[in-house]
Amino acid sequence: MTRQELVNEKFNDLMKDDIVHSKRKVLAGIVLTYNNRPEGAKVRVIAVTTGTKCVSGEHMSERGRAVNDCHAEVCARRALQRHLYRQLYQYARSADPTKLIPTSDIEPLPGGGYALRKHVQVHLYVSTAPCGDGRIFSPHETSEPALDRHPNRLARGQLRTKIESGEGTIPVKNSSNTVQTWDGVMQGERLLTMSCSDKAARWCCVGLQGALLALLLRPVYPRALVLGSLLHPAHTSRALYGRIEGSLTALPPPYALHRVMLARAASAEVRSPARAPSFSVAWCENDTVPEIINATTGKLESGQPSLLCKQSMFARWQYLVKRLPLLPQSTECTTVTPTLPQLDGLLYQEAKQLSPGYQLAKQRLIEAFDKAKLGKWVKKPLEQDQFICELTDADPELLFA
Ligand SMILES: [Zn+2]
Repeated sequence: MTRQELVNEKFNDLMKDDIVHSKRKVLAGIVLTYNNRPEGAKVRVIAVTTGTKCVSGEHMSERGRAVNDCHAEVCARRALQRHLYRQLYQYARSADPTKLIPTSDIEPLPGGGYALRKHVQVHLYVSTAPCGDGRIFSPHETSEPALDRHPNRLARGQLRTKIESGEGTIPVKNSSNTVQTWDGVMQGERLLTMSCSDKAARWCCVGLQGALLALLLRPVYPRALVLGSLLHPAHTSRALYGRIEGSLTALPPPYALHRVMLARAASAEVRSPARAPSFSVAWCENDTVPEIINATTGKLESGQPSLLCKQSMFARWQYLVKRLPLLPQSTECTTVTPTLPQLDGLLYQEAKQLSPGYQLAKQRLIEAFDKAKLGKWVKKPLEQDQFICELTDADPELLFA
């Protein structure tokens, strides 16, 4: 079965008794493949997600309890993070966390920390091209050779933001103020979120694991992006890495720009003209039922936070960093062994800063866009990340379920 078929089959199976939530406009999934694996499956579907909407400004959470961006591929990445946390949890539970668990997707490194094993590859499937630069100039399916006739047009490659409660994207303003303010958004300013094309370009630079996991895990890069429709190689490759190749300064190792392989799925997804639903389905391997996230509130219909929210990730991180050997961190000119600060009262924002290599790579990416005159990366209000972990006493079996 192809990667597209695997994701579709899993989704149909999960949603067979739930017609309401099986409605979707974009479907995404994470598939892991294994080389040289003598026994067991060579391929695994780790995550299946849907969604095309973002949280509305008034529902931003100052406790990390709302999922801001429910576009399918963004949720798929967060579901992959849950998978990585689970893999690390197995090490935290084992008698010797520096000893390889043969069935794990990750392996301990001699100097501390962990890495995805060499024979494991991460594939991201999305039923259509990521919103923003990768989709905007090629809104139609075509069988023509996919050459961009106007590659030098000024709008090509620009950073774009999703608009609150809408579906399209708009170019970022070229103002110097790229940090949004909490009070501004609460008073009705539209909350801006970077487009999926821009986020995917970032994943090709800093990996899919995010800042928190970077303290434990070497960057996890996507090997391939498989699109169910609207794959125009010229536009998609520009969106993912081509537009910053010329302006990106060297990243601190082990970070490096990864030119993700692009693939068109065997059978084209048909465009559905129906209105996009305002929920997101999110499933991670071993979940008996998927979560249904209300994309407007960023929470489950019950009002409970999703397992994909920052607060949940932060709690998993806090549990693990106390128990596992940390990954040495590269800074501008040297590599340092990180020391864990006092975790009591540590803010999420402060935890993200404990991975200087990741932060530097991210900074270089933002500078590369700026240098190439493609716009300034827009940040969410700073207050969003100033929360503490509220789940320090949580049962780890539930936390990592
Ligand atoms: Zn998107």
